[in-house]
Amino acid sequence: MIDLRSDTVTKPSAAMMDAMMEAKVGDDVFGEDPTVNELQNFAANMFGMEAALFCASGTMTNQIAIKLHTQPSDEVICDKLSHVYLYEGGGIGYNSGCSTRLLEGNYGRFTAEQVQENINDKNNIHFPISKLVCIENTVNKGGGVCWDIDEMIKIKGVCENNEMALHLDGARLFNALVAKNQSALKYGQLFDTISICLSKGLGAPVGSLLLGSKKNITKAIRIRKIMGGGMRQAGFIAAAGLYALQNNIDRLTIDHERANILANVLQTCNFVESIYPVETNIVIFKINPNELSTNHFIEFLKNNEINAVSMGNNLIRFVLHLNITATEFEFLINKIKQINISNPIL
Ligand SMILES: *Cc1c(COP(=O)(O)O)cnc(C)c1O
Repeated sequence: MIDLRSDTVTKPSAAMMDAMMEAKVGDDVFGEDPTVNELQNFAANMFGMEAALFCASGTMTNQIAIKLHTQPSDEVICDKLSHVYLYEGGGIGYNSGCSTRLLEGNYGRFTAEQVQENINDKNNIHFPISKLVCIENTVNKGGGVCWDIDEMIKIKGVCENNEMALHLDGARLFNALVAKNQSALKYGQLFDTISICLSKGLGAPVGSLLLGSKKNITKAIRIRKIMGGGMRQAGFIAAAGLYALQNNIDRLTIDHERANILANVLQTCNFVESIYPVETNIVIFKINPNELSTNHFIEFLKNNEINAVSMGNNLIRFVLHLNITATEFEFLINKIKQINISNPIL
């Protein structure tokens, strides 16, 4: 089975397991886990930010960030495709008591002008106070597309002029850095807080990091504790994250090249109606609906040893990742070509 459902399905390599087994650990709630501390320092330095906090998931790092930048009744500005809005269980309302202002971007990427137009007048007591802007890079539901640095710089300017914070949901930020040859340090300058996932394309089994100023991360530690996210000998999993940051970033180009090849093949298939722009490791395509439901198509792929997910509206998502071998990738390409020729379902 070729598992293309997500880049979260990866399992630790032997070398990563070795790093985990050899980790020095302590009680991280007391701040005494040397491996957690090393991971946090390593990540903070990569981005030129003051501090970092190791958390259980990307949902937790995003939700902590939203909480620390807002007060109940404030408003968060984000794209209508964003993970913080769509896939975090209504956490913006539940954890932070904030309303959400949704922007309609270009595959999840909005402009500084759109942000400006959606800031509420602070002097009008009817309106919630616009307090935070969330950017997602790469955009998951946008098919893994990347943001333009210049637009983010403009958005930062709008935030500064309006006393709003800027948070980056960088669950797949390393895919963007590699694809667009951008610098992590530049991101560190632009954002008040950044969330990065170690358990996506980087191949660690668990964990995300929230990066920010010392002041913000001090607040974040308290919020993480309230959410039940204080961990003890977390060094065993932090070691996997450290290994991932030190070894698995450059190889993301392989996933991007493969996504491109896959998209080119899909382009020629009669069961494909259209494909989202492919910039990183995600390929989202629309199947020809005819009499075929998406669920049927997913089932059909499964019978052909391909595991994928539906994104609704006849959309199917394939995600490339480090657990797909060269042989498996070749098998996949041949399989797709074969499905196209035999065309038994359309
Ligand atoms: C996966 C993901 C997250 C975090 O997900 P967790 O499963 O909670 O780690 C956040 N944002 C985006 C864009 C994601 O793709």
